[in-house]
Formats: sequence, structure tokens, C-alpha cells
Amino acid sequence: MTTKKVRTLIIHLLMAAAILMACAPATTESPTVATEPPQAATEAPAATEEPAAATEAPAEITDTELNVLCTPQEQWCQGMKQEFEAKYGITVNYVRMSSGEALARVQAEKDNPQFDIWWGGPIDSFVAAKGEGLLEAYDSPNYANLTDPAKMKDVDNQWVGIYVGTLGFATNTDWLAANPGVEPPRSWDDLLKPEFTGQVMVAHPSSSGTSYTALATVLQIRGEEAGWEYLKQYDAQMAQYTKSGAAPAKFVGQGEAAVAIVFSHDIVNEIENNKLPLVLTFPEEGTGYEIGGMAILKGAKHPQAARLWFDWALTPEAQALGPVYAAYQAPTVSGVELSHPELLEVNLIDYDFIWAGEHKKEFVDKFTNEIAGAENLKE
Ligand code: PLP
Repeated sequence: MTTKKVRTLIIHLLMAAAILMACAPATTESPTVATEPPQAATEAPAATEEPAAATEAPAEITDTELNVLCTPQEQWCQGMKQEFEAKYGITVNYVRMSSGEALARVQAEKDNPQFDIWWGGPIDSFVAAKGEGLLEAYDSPNYANLTDPAKMKDVDNQWVGIYVGTLGFATNTDWLAANPGVEPPRSWDDLLKPEFTGQVMVAHPSSSGTSYTALATVLQIRGEEAGWEYLKQYDAQMAQYTKSGAAPAKFVGQGEAAVAIVFSHDIVNEIENNKLPLVLTFPEEGTGYEIGGMAILKGAKHPQAARLWFDWALTPEAQALGPVYAAYQAPTVSGVELSHPELLEVNLIDYDFIWAGEHKKEFVDKFTNEIAGAENLKE
């Protein structure tokens, strides 16, 4: 066996162990932090088998358009629209919304859905939508491409993972230079230090999946009681809450606060493409991560086109497009090179997606009612 294959096998075994823990019955007790961080791939995950060929359009396409509810960043939504249109000749209309807004829209349009497919944003919202009967099951032939189907796919085929991203901290390096002796945060406790009072920015969990991932991470690391106590102190450190999850990295890069809590791939985008003065750090005791989801909406008016997008989004060809459009999340299918493997080489908690999804409404309501309201969020 080659070193590469051995490494791949180890990764798969570690992921399988994580899956077994994640499959424990949902409970309001939060899971414990992994003592060992899962190993991350240091190179592109080698496919043990050849991934399935890219989906070809059915002989006769009757749907001529597709309405996509798109939750990742605008540039990636636009890129995917153009790529799909060029490949299949189906017109794609999309609206970009943060995860919380997307879930609210899907709930509001339950009886007359305006979107066919929901693409992107942490899986917690998809778990919540499944619980309300808003998603359509689909048995895609391209599930065979998933590196970890037990974790990356709903047991009833109502949602699937299309990327993975880890939460990090972005600190403004100009601010650090102006505050000698202050180090960028390397733990959740560091965010509570006096030097960061009024200097932290994160989105609000009612609108943002990024922020909800941070909230659910804290509750899982500390347990619910201590976690909610921590969140009250965390609130006292905030400069302002934003609507979109990625926005704090931009605002902190522009000097509006010192530290942002954002998905690490969004921080990389601000550093590499927008040249903002930011340094990326991770909480060493453990950070949360997202599986970005995808689902066909129940009652979709263009089901054939929706299935085509669904199958296509699970091909290596489509997932390799991320970095082309400045999206540095890790893929969920075999045969795609990781653009930034180091973003997974961190101490990840055994984030329980089902638990987080099933408690989303309860936890967001508690945060909004008891800690910080959702009025006047920064755009
Ligand atoms: N944009 C990117 C690049 C993301 O990775 C994610 C998370 O899935 C989102 C946006 C979701 O945004 P929000 O936190 O605003 O719901």
C-alpha cells in the first residue's frame, strides 16, 4: 500500500469513528470534545475507486429553468449558475441569502415553493427543514462519489453535503501592531479578554449559519449551562452583530473591529484575494465545522432540472469549481484536490449536526430573547 493510500485509509477510519459518535441518539446533552483531532488530509483525498462520471443531461430536457436558493458567497453562486447553464442549457435564476433567511423563506413558501433547489449553508438548517417536512427525498446515483456517505448524507436522502468548512478567528494585523503585546485569540476564552471588549464581530445566529455553528460549537464544548453563561460574556465583547456570516472578516479587515469569528475559508478569501490585513487563528481547545448542504424542495416546480443540478453538484467536476470562484471549502466527493488542506488540520470537535439542527429554533430563540436581539444587524 502506498503512503498516500495508508494516509487515506487512516483518514477514513478516523472519520468512521467520528460518524459512530455523531450517530448517537440526539439529546439536549451536548457531546464532548474529541480528545484527538481528526487527521486532515495533507493532500487531495485520493479516490479509492474511480469517481462516477459527470452527470450527462437526460435525452429530453423538459424543464427550461431552475430556481436556486443559494447560500454561499455571491461569486460562487454566480459561477455555478453560469457553469450549469453552459453545460445543460437550462436557465438558472438564483437568489443569494444567508442560511437563517433561507430557512425562513422555505418555511414561508411551504405551500407554494418558489425555489427548486437549496444549495449551500450549514447542514443544521437542512436538518431543521427536514424536521418540518420541507424537503424532497432524492436517491442520486452520485452519492457513490461521497468520501463519507454515512456522515455526508441524510439517512432518508433528503439532504446531502456539498462542502466542509472550519470555524476560525480573523484578527486585524494593523490593530495588533497598534496594540503591542496583544496576541490574536487562540481559544474561546481569549475572546473574553479585556483587550477585546467591544472589538469582536460575528453574525447573528438568527440570520447566519456561520454564527449558529459558533453558538452550537460553544454549547458542545462547554455543555449547555456553562455554554449559555459563556455566550452572555461573549455578547458583552461584541462591537456589532452582522446579518451575513462572512461579513465580519471584511469589516474587521477594514478596521471596524479587531477580531471576527468566521469560517476559515472566508478568512482565506479576504487575505488572499482582497489583500485585507488579517491573520487566521483557531481555538486550540477545539473548533466547530460545517457540512454545507443541498436539498430539493418539496413541491419544486422544476424537479427534473433540480435533480440534474443535484447530481452535477456531487461530481468532482462541479466541486473542483469552488476555488475558481474563490470558494475554498473542502469538497465532499472523491477526486478533487483540496485547495487549502491546512484549514482541516486543526482540532475539530465531534460536531453533532443532527443535535444542532434539531435544536436550532430553540437555541436561536433563546439567544435572540435572552442575549441579543436581531434588530439593526449590520448588512
Ligand atoms: N458563505 C460561505 C462562503 C459559506 O461557507 C457559508 C457557510 O456555509 C455561508 C456563506 C453561509 O452564510 P451565512 O453564515 O451568512 O448563513
